[in-house]
Amino acid sequence: LGKNLTKTMKKLAGMTIIDEEVVKEVIKDIQRALIQSDVNIKLVLNLSKTIEDRALNEEPPKGVTAKEHVIKIVYDELVNLLGEKAEEVEIEKKPYKILFVGLQGSGKTTSIGKMARYLQKKGFNPAIICTDTWRPAAYEQLRQLTENLNLPLYGDPDNKDALDLARKGLKEFKKQDLIIVDTAGRHKEEKDLLDEMEQISAVVEPDEVMLVIDGTIGQQAREQALAFSQTTKIGSIVITKLDGSAKGGGALSAVAEIGAPIKFIGTGERIEDLEVFDPERFISRLLGMGDIRTLIERAEEIEEDVDQEAMDAMLSGKFTLKDMYSQFEMMNKMGPMQQVMNMLPGMGNKLPKNASQVTEEKLGKYKILMDSMTEEELTHPEIIKQSRVKRIARGSGMRNEDVKELLKYYQVTKKAIKGFGKRKMGGPLGQMMR
Ligand code: GDP
Ligand code: MG
Repeated sequence: LGKNLTKTMKKLAGMTIIDEEVVKEVIKDIQRALIQSDVNIKLVLNLSKTIEDRALNEEPPKGVTAKEHVIKIVYDELVNLLGEKAEEVEIEKKPYKILFVGLQGSGKTTSIGKMARYLQKKGFNPAIICTDTWRPAAYEQLRQLTENLNLPLYGDPDNKDALDLARKGLKEFKKQDLIIVDTAGRHKEEKDLLDEMEQISAVVEPDEVMLVIDGTIGQQAREQALAFSQTTKIGSIVITKLDGSAKGGGALSAVAEIGAPIKFIGTGERIEDLEVFDPERFISRLLGMGDIRTLIERAEEIEEDVDQEAMDAMLSGKFTLKDMYSQFEMMNKMGPMQQVMNMLPGMGNKLPKNASQVTEEKLGKYKILMDSMTEEELTHPEIIKQSRVKRIARGSGMRNEDVKELLKYYQVTKKAIKGFGKRKMGGPLGQMMR
């Protein structure tokens, strides 16, 4: 199957003009791959219709070959469906309340443990409420998880009233920053479960409802998502059990059905088996690794043409911590910064002293600190004031001074880059910062 796709892609590679027949052939192969991965047929048909229309009607941008054009469209449309790399949980207000829903066995409680730990590493202190009165062991499972993480838990295995549990838990945790509510996934009748979710949602008034879907259930994912979305507004999706052979195509259909982004992927039973959703990786699973590699490389090649804009923005002073992070990643690949600078004509001694003196140890430290920052903080570092400094330090296990040092380094680098921008240094420096 994957081979088929590669073969058609090769055929397309030799072409300079888009041939209707070849486009149709590529699309047929993509259809097959998607259907085999459990993507809903209607969705596959809609998707291929869009790809075909665009491939045949849109003029490829200047300098882009027919092949690159079709490939970019396929990739675009899949990403379009799945959403860009999801934003993380943003704590917009306090307490920020997250309600977990999903069928029994889908992995709610396990995912709550994983996410609680993930958020704890970011310096948050999530409190958890157990409202699952159906499974006798539900409270015990959470008790063990939270005990290991040293996180607050509210639950009462003797109380069989889920709404009462929710109310009492919220009261107990009203001073917390972040509350996660676990729910039951089973009832005598499915309707009773859905009714309970609707009522719990009304009591909790969640800021975000996360729907947990078992990645191995294939086509049923769509219906499940639909059923839950009729009880409460689903804000985001967690797909579990993608550590096995399942490709998560069902999940794609669920996403398309309810329009909520996937935020996390569960890749195992252990508490660290959680990945932030990455559409690229997800699409490679759906289509077959080899094929998507080509897809993405091509797509990126095309994107490079437009990257100048991002570059200009950066040189004019829009340099965020996130940009600095990518720089670090690249430097790690290329070797120590001073060495890199020496390779660039005339640049060796132009960088501020402390910038060229970042040791690898420091880079490592800075990266750990940045891992404890939220998306918002990375893109708008100016919001990082005293309380955020403290939280980031706590989350990364470092001192407040370390956070301040990183921010100082960022300021110095930003200034230096702005300086370069004024002197219109493009070329090698531009490439370096990409
Ligand atoms: P809940 O009923 O929705 O709360 O589901 P649980 O969290 O209790 O999980 C049900 C089962 O699925 C447990 O045996 C978990 O260990 C397992 N599980 C959950 N997430 C994953 C995952 O990402 N990968 C694998 N392999 N197993 C998982
Ligand atoms: Mg559970």
